[in-house]
Amino acid sequence: MTIAVLGGGESGTGAALLAQQKGIEVFVSDAASIADPYKQLLLAHGIPFEEKGHTLANLARVHKVIKSPGIPNEAGILLELRKRAIPILDEIEFAFPYAQGMVIAVTGSNGKSTTAHLIHHLLKAAKRNAVLAGNVGYSFAKSLTERTHDYYVLELSSFQLESIERFHPHIACLLTIAPDHLDRYGHSLDAYAQAKLNVLRNMTQTDHFIYNNDDQLIQNHLSNCRLLPQAHPISIASHAPEGDPISALLRSNTTYLPGKHNQLNACVAITAALLTGVSMEQIQDALPTFRSLPHRLEWCGAPQGIDCYNDSKATNVAAAAVALESFSQPIVWIAGGKDKGNDYTDLVPIVKEKVKAMVCLGKDNSTIATAFASLGIPIRETDTMAAAVQTALTFAAKGDVVLLSPACASFDLFKNFEDRGDQFRMQIQTCLNGRL
Ligand code: ADP
Repeated sequence: MTIAVLGGGESGTGAALLAQQKGIEVFVSDAASIADPYKQLLLAHGIPFEEKGHTLANLARVHKVIKSPGIPNEAGILLELRKRAIPILDEIEFAFPYAQGMVIAVTGSNGKSTTAHLIHHLLKAAKRNAVLAGNVGYSFAKSLTERTHDYYVLELSSFQLESIERFHPHIACLLTIAPDHLDRYGHSLDAYAQAKLNVLRNMTQTDHFIYNNDDQLIQNHLSNCRLLPQAHPISIASHAPEGDPISALLRSNTTYLPGKHNQLNACVAITAALLTGVSMEQIQDALPTFRSLPHRLEWCGAPQGIDCYNDSKATNVAAAAVALESFSQPIVWIAGGKDKGNDYTDLVPIVKEKVKAMVCLGKDNSTIATAFASLGIPIRETDTMAAAVQTALTFAAKGDVVLLSPACASFDLFKNFEDRGDQFRMQIQTCLNGRL
């Protein structure tokens, strides 16, 4: 059997390594150039690859194609391969049959990383042989080539779930469904939601589905489908029943996770850990040692008494909304970037209530600036992080908050959301060192 892997990034390289380990003939083909560390890995393992273009003649000869989640379903090369009836599968789907342990899948528009990290933290603290993989920057397939584990905690995006056939988690967590990546789903929220709900596709009565029951879109979609796995609805909006052990635990423990949304993430993670048999006592001991991840409402310092938060990971409107809701102080809001077909209408009331000035940070700020123009707050347009932070600080007074929570992707001006957040943190550090 010969397999071709499309895309030479983390998941593509991981899939190629796994295929080779299983004795399958494999090569990698990337439409762009392959980043050096991945190229070195392929060379070291003697896996052939091509970059900066696909050779259709070679691809048309293989038995199967594994595609990286970054490649949209409508990409020209996939259309060509489909015409030739070559099966195309995702890295997750390819890797799944080789995993012997329990698979815990975490998906949703927002909250995946935090929740998946917390589940992994709780399992590790209880001395379980667990690994965290998937969308966290460590491919599921690659993890399988390195060691066997009893638990695979997988953070999964809608792209990784949209065409699964056999992937079957034992526990699935669904955190939120909010408009995101709609440019990849023909601007259909329904198609995007279906991709996330695909996680349920092969689950049976002995499996467990933990979901956010405060999320209207999740409720709507679930009311239209027959749920086979055991359901664990989580709500923090409604009052927990008297004596509910999880809420009691969260009340009594410092989790260092700011905001209500993180209470929900924590409830989901605790429920998942309990289902694997970790005890309440073990969870209680492990919760205080968990720290929130960088770029998610990360406190970066308080120059001139102004608290500055890096929420660069807020790449959609819903994530920016929960960030704005997390503060009671007046906010100077740095937002904008690469617009993914965003609708900012939902943010208008909260911005009106909390934001005293807005600094747009993007190559093209027109859409976001226009969306809030009627509010009468000062709006400034910038196109570098240095200018954005300087401008924000001139609007803020002692006791205010400067919040980078862009509601947009970062690729117009930055390498990725990490680069954007790192630059923000560096600018704040520069202010603190008195160099600004
Ligand atoms: P993901 O991996 O799904 O992007 P993260 O945990 O990295 O999720 O958080 C991404 C952004 O979403 C952050 O800005 C964070 O503050 C926000 N967020 C986290 N959890 C939730 C939630 N349950 N509901 C809404 N927003 C959330």
